[in-house]
Amino acid sequence: MSSALRQLGLMWYVVDRNSTTFETPEEVPNYINEAIPMFTILLLLEFGVMFLTGHGRVRMGDVLTSSGHGLLFDISKLVIHSGELSLYQWMYQYRVLDLDWRSAVTWWMAALFSDLAYYWYHRAIHEVNIGWAAHQVHHSSQDYNLSTALRQSVIEDFFVPPAYIPLALLGIPLPAIIVHIQLNLLYQFWIHTELVGTLGPLEWVFNTPSHHRVHHGANKWCLDRNYGGVLIIWDRIFGTFEAERRNQPGEEIAYGLVGQPQTYNTLYLQLFYYQAVFTKAFSMSTWGDFFRALFYGPGWTPGSPRLGDPTTFPDVKASRPLYGSEVPLWQQVYATTHYFICLILQQILVTNSQVLSWEVMMCHLAFIVVTLGVIGGIYDQRWWWVWLDLVRCITFLVYWTHVVTVIPWPLLDSLMASILVASVLLQTSRAFTHLCTSLTTHKKIIKKD
Ligand SMILES: [Zn+2]
Ligand SMILES: [Zn+2]
Repeated sequence: MSSALRQLGLMWYVVDRNSTTFETPEEVPNYINEAIPMFTILLLLEFGVMFLTGHGRVRMGDVLTSSGHGLLFDISKLVIHSGELSLYQWMYQYRVLDLDWRSAVTWWMAALFSDLAYYWYHRAIHEVNIGWAAHQVHHSSQDYNLSTALRQSVIEDFFVPPAYIPLALLGIPLPAIIVHIQLNLLYQFWIHTELVGTLGPLEWVFNTPSHHRVHHGANKWCLDRNYGGVLIIWDRIFGTFEAERRNQPGEEIAYGLVGQPQTYNTLYLQLFYYQAVFTKAFSMSTWGDFFRALFYGPGWTPGSPRLGDPTTFPDVKASRPLYGSEVPLWQQVYATTHYFICLILQQILVTNSQVLSWEVMMCHLAFIVVTLGVIGGIYDQRWWWVWLDLVRCITFLVYWTHVVTVIPWPLLDSLMASILVASVLLQTSRAFTHLCTSLTTHKKIIKKD
């Protein structure tokens, strides 16, 4: 019970200072990964309330896509994190202050300054086109619920170090930064909901669901607003604050991107905007404009101000259609089941990364990526998903027979193997039917000719 309460407190930055203070980076827990059960509970609670009150909609294609991004994000930390931490540690030797890692002052400075650093980092990845190409995936959902918070970029971390280096120079120890970056991100989970309206005086100081809804809007009045992590005061100070326009006809928020991608393909959503960035850059006629296309805002065009001319931006309205097709219930159950298999494999990957070999880790990762591709194929209603799924399940079963333990719990291991065998049988019959239908159609066309 006390552990559940502690976990709940972490989600709102309500923590005991002593238990979140560490001497070395190795001692800092992976709070994000530990919070996965709490993410799931809060998500189910939100969906339950939405269902009972009839407020909002739950679209499983969107939820599974967002959650899939969360899995990839958590795995990517295994690789990317070590590089940025080494850089921070190297800069720390040039610090101007010697702050005691145990002191309350250090803890509060780390909390405050890491939030300020987050503001500028977040603003930079919105205002610099190659940064936006990474971050746009967080904004690519047309729904707004707790699962949207999980929709994180796997490459955005490459843009993190410049924002936090001043904190190393200030003398904030690395363990404190690792703690507060995680607490900051956990706090941002609960603000992704439409169920909470406004919170009175708290709206002045804290980033709230109301403020963050504006940040996720594609309407012209929402663009480049409310970058704060925990505190909204930074937006008020630096002139990027915008209040939600509740109950104002015509100003309802249209969630998503201005140019909304029409797919649930996880990998595509992570990467597609880079093509747009480089196509734009290579279409420029001077080197100056080439670099402006990369480092100025996404709305910039030659001759316009750094962030573009807002009068030329399309004004997206909430009435725009939502992307998504009708998907049979059994396919939705199938996609959800295989998502949970991925979640278990991801947990094994993250919690055993120190002991697993690179080959095993790569196999798990490949399986997760392909499974997310299949789930995207189901919700995009692509014809090829049955074939990809068949290859995926057979390949993994073969791999399973060569690796003694994929899952260290025998019952779960057998259950998952059974699900994969059943999936192979199901997809073989569907693929066969698919093939027969195609051949019959083909013969009919030949006869007609
Ligand atoms: Zn953002
Ligand atoms: Zn967000």
